[in-house]
Amino acid sequence: MSEAKIKKITPESLEEAADLLRRGQLVAFPTETVYGLGADACSDEAVASTFQAKGRPQFNPLIAHIADISWVDSFAVFSPSARKLAEAFWPAPVTLVMERKPDCPISLLVSAGLDSVAVRYPSHEGARAMIAAFGNPVSAPSANVSGTVSPTTAEHVFQSLGDRIPLILDGGPCLVGVESTVLDVRADKPVLLRAGGLAVEEIVEKTGLDVLFPDKDPALPRSPGQLSSHYAPRLPVRLNALYPEEGEAFLGFGAVENATLNLSEKADVREAAAHLFAYMRLLDKPCYRGIAVSPIPMNDLGLAINDRLKRAAYPRS
Ligand code: AMP
Ligand code: MG
Repeated sequence: MSEAKIKKITPESLEEAADLLRRGQLVAFPTETVYGLGADACSDEAVASTFQAKGRPQFNPLIAHIADISWVDSFAVFSPSARKLAEAFWPAPVTLVMERKPDCPISLLVSAGLDSVAVRYPSHEGARAMIAAFGNPVSAPSANVSGTVSPTTAEHVFQSLGDRIPLILDGGPCLVGVESTVLDVRADKPVLLRAGGLAVEEIVEKTGLDVLFPDKDPALPRSPGQLSSHYAPRLPVRLNALYPEEGEAFLGFGAVENATLNLSEKADVREAAAHLFAYMRLLDKPCYRGIAVSPIPMNDLGLAINDRLKRAAYPRS
C-alpha cells in the first residue's frame, strides 16, 4: 500500500473516511484519549485487518465506538449500573464492558470471542462526526504498533502505521492523552479493568457507585489484553526517580531540577497525562541510555499515568 494521506477534518475528509470504512478499510482518527485505528466493527475481515496492521494479539479485545447512546440497544445489554454511568458521563473517556445481545451484529473478533463487548461514546467531535457519517459502530484500538507508545498526534500515527493504512484524520493533539477508563458494568458494582481518562474519584462522586478494583480482590473479573509490558519506548524506563543518573533523560513532574522535559511544572496530573506519550517519544533517543521518571501522585488521572508507566518500565525479554 502507498503512504497514508493525513487530512484535516472537513466534510469531505469525513465522507472519504466513512467511504473507506464501508469498503472494509482502516482509518486512523483522533479521539480525546489517543488516536484510534477505526474499522467497521461488524465486518470480520475489516476487524481482522486491524489486528494484522498493529501486530496485536487476537486475545486482546477491541472497543466498539458509537455516535449516540441509542445505538447500544441494537447490540448490547444496559445493566442498571451501565445505564447510570452512560447517562452521567457519555460522551466521555470511559468504556463500558456490557453483555452482547444474542443477535449482536458486532464481529466476535472485537470481543476476542467473549460474550461481552466494550463500548465507548467518545466526546471528540471529529470522532463522533466520522462514526456518525459511517452510521455503524467503529471498532478501534490505539493507532500504533502493538506494545509501543500510544499516538497522540496524527504525525505519531504516520510514524507507526503510515505504510499500512490509507487515511489519517488529523484533529491535532489529543486533549486527555491517556486511553479510556474501562469498567466492567455487567454486575451491580462496576469493576475497574483499566484506569484511564475518566478519574475513579469523579465516577464515585457523580454516581455514588462503588467501584471495585481487581488488584485488591482476585475473585473479580480481569481484562484480557492488559499486558505487563505495554506502552513501551525503546529505552528502558526507571520509575520514581528523584534525579537522573549519568546518561539518562529525566522526565520530570512538579518542581524538580535537571528535567530534560517536565510533564507538568505545576504538578497538575491532567496536564501530565496530556503530555505523557508525546514526551516519552521525544526522549526515546539513542543519545540517552534510559528514561528516568519523577514520582507521580496516584490521585485523579495519576492512577492511569502510573499504570502506563509501570507497563512501560516492565522488563522486556
Ligand atoms: P485498546 O484498544 O488498546 O485501548 O484496548 C482496549 C482494552 O479494553 C483491551 O485491552 C481490554 O483490556 C479492554 N476490553 C475491551 N473489550 C473487553 C471485553 N469484552 N472484556 C474485557 N475487557 C475488554
Ligand atoms: Mg493500545
